[in-house]
Amino acid sequence: MTAKQVKRIGVHVGVAGGSWTAVERAVAAGANTFQIFSSSPRSWKAAPVKPEDALKMQELRKKYDVWPVAIHASYLINLCSQTESVRVNATAAFRGEVERALALGAEFLVLHPGSWKGLTREQGLKMAAASIEEAIAGLPWQGKDFRILIENTAGAEFSLGGKLEQVAELVEVLKPCAPVGVCLDTCHVHVAGYDIVSSDGYEETMKLVGETIGFEAVKVWHCNDAKAAMGSKLDRHEHIGEGTIGAAAFKRLLHDARFGHCAFIAETPVDQPGDEARNVGVLRTLAAG
Ligand SMILES: [Zn+2]
Ligand SMILES: [Zn+2]
Repeated sequence: MTAKQVKRIGVHVGVAGGSWTAVERAVAAGANTFQIFSSSPRSWKAAPVKPEDALKMQELRKKYDVWPVAIHASYLINLCSQTESVRVNATAAFRGEVERALALGAEFLVLHPGSWKGLTREQGLKMAAASIEEAIAGLPWQGKDFRILIENTAGAEFSLGGKLEQVAELVEVLKPCAPVGVCLDTCHVHVAGYDIVSSDGYEETMKLVGETIGFEAVKVWHCNDAKAAMGSKLDRHEHIGEGTIGAAAFKRLLHDARFGHCAFIAETPVDQPGDEARNVGVLRTLAAG
């Protein structure tokens, strides 16, 4: 087996001490892929990437064979706000996210499509697409191994992306002007009302993924168990195998050849030291067995 065929399993890690330190945290947790925030996810302020930090990250990734790297965009960014000043701010902030992702050499930038409150869903979708197009205009993404991944959401009222069709629609609209793909989150799929727990439900849900988004377009699976019930629309992540989704569903997903090209990244709670490694270990065991 070559290094490239090793399943990519990882976890969201912190960046205290510089973004490059994430590689060491990921490796210490047993991961060969990871996700970070490139700025505080609840602040509008962000420092540009230091070239020496980016270089250090590249060197460490090479040394430990760690890829792909995903950056999760700030939660504050709502690219389809009906308030123009908010949308303009969000678009500028998202441009910063793309700039930092490119500077760090990250393969993926994960984005929640936003909330269309005050608009129609169609207007929201159009606005999100226009904002993303505007945000990346003129940035040097061509020819790079870089994609913006639209993440499905828990399906809360007015949030775009609770339905697989909406994720697919946004990707379709963006394709001509941006490098796009999809990140699916197991917890969000489950609480949005799609069955991935029963084996029949799993097959039906994945058939829908194939018909709407397409398997190839899915680049990352966020692997999170759920604290809340299927269809509850409550987004509360749980440790793998300890929630309402359960270990068997993750095992099925990790063995699903249609997603053999994907990275599987946990965003599970960190209740005590070592929880990142514990969840990566559970995923690794499920993928092997
Ligand atoms: Zn997620
Ligand atoms: Zn979530």
